[in-house]
Amino acid sequence: MTSRLSTRPLADGREAAGVLLPLPLDAPYDYVVPSGAEVAPGSVVKVPLGGRVVAGVVWGPAQGDVEAEKLREIISLHDIPPLPKASLEFVDWVAAYTLSKRGSVLRMVMRAPGALTPPKPATAFELAPGVAAEDDSLPFGLRPTAARRQVIRVLSGRAPTTAAALARTAGVSPSVIRGLAEAGALRRAEVGDSPAKPDPHRPGPDLSPAQRTAADDLVRRVADSGFSVTVLDGVTGSGKTEVYFEAVAAALAAGRQVAVLLPEIALTADWLARFETRFGAPPAVWHSDLLPAQRRRAWRDVLTGDARLAVGARSALMLPFPDLGLIVVDEEHDPGFKQDEGVIYNARDMAVVRGRIGGFPVVLASATPSLETMDNVWRRRYERISLPERFAGAQLPEISSVDMRDQAMDRRTWLSPALVEAARNALAGERQAMLFLNRRGYAPLTLCRACGHRLECPHCTAWLVEHRLLERLQCHHCGYQATLPRICPSCEAEDRFAACGPGVERLAEEARRRFPEARLEIMSSDTVRRPGEAAALVKRMHAREIDLLIGTQIMAKGFHFPALTLVGVVDADLGLSGGDLRAAERTHQLLNQVAGRAGRGETPGQVLLQTWQPEHAVMRALGSGDGRRFMEAEAASRRRHGMPPYGRLAAVIVSGTVEEEVDATASRLGRAAPRSACVSVLGPAPAPMAVIRGRHRRRLLMAAPRDVKLQDMVRRWIAGIRPGTGVRVAVDIDPYSFM
Ligand code: ADP
Ligand code: ZN
Repeated sequence: MTSRLSTRPLADGREAAGVLLPLPLDAPYDYVVPSGAEVAPGSVVKVPLGGRVVAGVVWGPAQGDVEAEKLREIISLHDIPPLPKASLEFVDWVAAYTLSKRGSVLRMVMRAPGALTPPKPATAFELAPGVAAEDDSLPFGLRPTAARRQVIRVLSGRAPTTAAALARTAGVSPSVIRGLAEAGALRRAEVGDSPAKPDPHRPGPDLSPAQRTAADDLVRRVADSGFSVTVLDGVTGSGKTEVYFEAVAAALAAGRQVAVLLPEIALTADWLARFETRFGAPPAVWHSDLLPAQRRRAWRDVLTGDARLAVGARSALMLPFPDLGLIVVDEEHDPGFKQDEGVIYNARDMAVVRGRIGGFPVVLASATPSLETMDNVWRRRYERISLPERFAGAQLPEISSVDMRDQAMDRRTWLSPALVEAARNALAGERQAMLFLNRRGYAPLTLCRACGHRLECPHCTAWLVEHRLLERLQCHHCGYQATLPRICPSCEAEDRFAACGPGVERLAEEARRRFPEARLEIMSSDTVRRPGEAAALVKRMHAREIDLLIGTQIMAKGFHFPALTLVGVVDADLGLSGGDLRAAERTHQLLNQVAGRAGRGETPGQVLLQTWQPEHAVMRALGSGDGRRFMEAEAASRRRHGMPPYGRLAAVIVSGTVEEEVDATASRLGRAAPRSACVSVLGPAPAPMAVIRGRHRRRLLMAAPRDVKLQDMVRRWIAGIRPGTGVRVAVDIDPYSFM
């Protein structure tokens, strides 16, 4: 029977449904439901569109604004469960909030091409009868090579395993497995389709009394099974993960699915290992670095409910969970949760919305909750649970500033005598040290010493960054690469280019000079591109194969290195310049997090902040550990200026390849800007990054009190303007970037 809610009868007796397509369209298109077919909201269907066939989702009854005889028919239904109602509602909500097209949001939900058709059954292998790992010889006249024996060892006592997994685990090439199979030592077997499930009843670690209280509190919220938001605010090393694992266990035990969002995919490997230790099976993983087959698998498993927990980057929030019962946003303050392209949304905020739609608890974990989140705590919309101490009596590190104005520094060196001495002491004491500089590459700027010409990206308002390891200049905004020229394009002087300022590679050069004995590694998104590489580096840190780690913000987060006692922040002021309204807050969060890597084991940690402004509120707050006072001062200043979270902002970014067209559209927007006593619009002005990827950019910024329905005003404003040829108008509600 066709559900009444999902279709609408046509005059000729057929039924029609509205189908939303994962394309930049806001409204569902009407299609005729083939006779005998059953569709419901969420059904995934194949429909014709122009000359193509696309997958779409039944959104509801047909609109009825197209004549019945012109309607085309749904071709077929995909053989998967319908997308959950909560997902549909979520798409509608996100689209309305971010002023995006619903189809564009749906596209994020459907980002697993190929997941709609059932996977081909994989061939798996098991040992043939009579083959045993203990035997010295192999049957069938096979020579017992090390590789063959390794495969047999891995397979013995193990469930049938796919050739690919087997080759990986045994560390052999697939041809070894093929050879063994052809000779008859392995035989083909059925592989079970559903993944192993995490076991919520396995005992967790013994929690400290403070952890226990916090965990019980979270578990109670899961048991209450209504919507709530709880901020788990615990200092670095307090065991936030172990605590929220208890809530995860409770949700899993109640038969609900769980989503965990992490800000950085480099963190996933470490997190996975901890999860597997605690729950005995891996979760589904979701991030941009998955192979297509892994992606299809994870997506399907979430939709069918075979995956009970999915962990990943912000896009994991969009997965079609039919029975979500808990979301954890780890490091909730992290700017990485904001997506700045396409559908511009903040996964932390949207996680709260998803919780409200699904009627379940959301946990926001951080050592330095964002001001937005703290404001919700102060207004009693969110609960807050604190863990003020590190686990197992570990102390918080001692943080002090190194006043760079007093340091005698040689030219082209960046490590102050104070920091060098501290590092030398740590290394001499067989402890690990870390130098933090949030800049990739060798040098952020290369200039000609003859004429002062700076090497810039031809497509962006940005300097080219020298990467000496890659022997390349790189644009960090568009990926443009070039080799370092010998001749200055401006004055034709030969070999006069000089690197200005340090990136991590240059810092490593200085560190190698100063600590020639230390085993040194660089951790940045250039050396750690995927979770596996991060895991390998973490392993080398734990095995004490690294003495000195030099890294960017990717090593600031989450990692637990018990022997690391010294953290040196090379340029603590780096994030404070520029006009970003959150510059101080973010610097405080980032440096607190970096500092939190120090002294997590038995030996107390020490943190040195090299700064030119030791009297700055951020440095003082870090030194005194009084984050609360800092946040209150930050709040007071934002309130005074009507800035978020005490006022609302929406940015409008106009971009295009033809500058005149961009300017014309931006001016029209400026003239049409809504004028009222409470709303102000700044701009248009050239964006600080005035050109990215060859597109010229202008910005407008609307500011309003927080009770104003900003979206309605922006929607009406934008709708009145037809952008010039090739010009795009993007809206960023609650902007985090002002570039
Ligand atoms: P945070 O996320 O708050 O910085 P973690 O959850 O990473 O802290 O915990 C820090 C370290 O202490 C981890 O290695 C963790 O496994 C360990 N730990 C925390 N709580 C416990 C506990 N109750 N029992 C055993 N180990 C714990
Ligand atoms: Zn560029």
